[in-house]
Amino acid sequence: MQTLIVTAPGELEWREVPDPPSPAAAAALVRPTVTAVCDFDHLIVAGNAPVPYPFAIGHEMVGEVVETGSEVCTVSAGDDVIVPFQISCGSCGPCTKGLTSCCAAVPWLSSYGLGDASGGWGAATSDLVTVPYADAMLIKLPESIPAPLAAVTSCNVTDAYRCVAPQLASEPGAPVLVAAGGFQNIAFIATVLAITLGSEQVDVVGLRAPLAAKAQALGARIINSVADVENATYPIAADCSLDPTMLAAALSGTAPGGTCTITSVYPAGLVPVPLLDLFAACATINVGQPHVRGLLPDVLELLEQRTGLADVLIDQEHDWDHAIEAFTGAGKHVVVRT
Ligand SMILES: [Zn+2]
Ligand SMILES: [Zn+2]
Repeated sequence: MQTLIVTAPGELEWREVPDPPSPAAAAALVRPTVTAVCDFDHLIVAGNAPVPYPFAIGHEMVGEVVETGSEVCTVSAGDDVIVPFQISCGSCGPCTKGLTSCCAAVPWLSSYGLGDASGGWGAATSDLVTVPYADAMLIKLPESIPAPLAAVTSCNVTDAYRCVAPQLASEPGAPVLVAAGGFQNIAFIATVLAITLGSEQVDVVGLRAPLAAKAQALGARIINSVADVENATYPIAADCSLDPTMLAAALSGTAPGGTCTITSVYPAGLVPVPLLDLFAACATINVGQPHVRGLLPDVLELLEQRTGLADVLIDQEHDWDHAIEAFTGAGKHVVVRT
């Protein structure tokens, strides 16, 4: 089969690789039909994250079930499905609590599209992927959600959702701060969801053009400098920046009793954290990967209620043959098999 490989920073090529074997009893073979480019893909294509080359890329996907193992009972060949980017078994201790990014049945970070470092599970920009726990992982594609948007729920939309949606459900209308930077699309999606979910004030710092203009047109307020972020102001804050200065601003900006969710990854050692501000605010920090499979039912319910988000959140669609352009461009790109 064909799969898209990153061979060096900025260098991608299609390669012929062996097909996956027939699925084990609990597994399914899925043919990806839509893959979306994640903010993290931009980092690893550029060589700015510790993922050794070469590796097959792509982890946000919708696909068609091709073959199922003998024990699989929730999906069958021909079904269109959303494939969460993380591998999860659905039955271990963390999975049964919805903490599917911490599945105990597989090594931490087991996921698609990140090479051998994440388990070598294959990638979304391929003709086939193996889903080892098909009943636990796969969700049938809802008819009312466009497949390109559904593909983005397998990582970025769900990552953004957990930053603002549960918090706004607990405190309707609460002001939100989003610190953008390295994860521009997650920050933009969090901003859009916060507006959609009724936050009375959504402030964004670090969002670049053209997303800043789009966010502003939708009702967000753009803060031009991180120095202008007010302390102890936001019941809901999100750090999507990969920038310690912005992280500190998001943490210090969190209001008394508020919550700051950190989607950024800081792999390079210690990062300064304004603990006294957090102590004074009795703030809560959420840190870690999103529990994609655990959250997906709630995310899909929201997207079924709020139609039209695909046009807002997706910048460009590419044919499958032009996937390389998608993975080397800026913005939220999706690749569609025709
Ligand atoms: Zn991702
Ligand atoms: Zn598990």
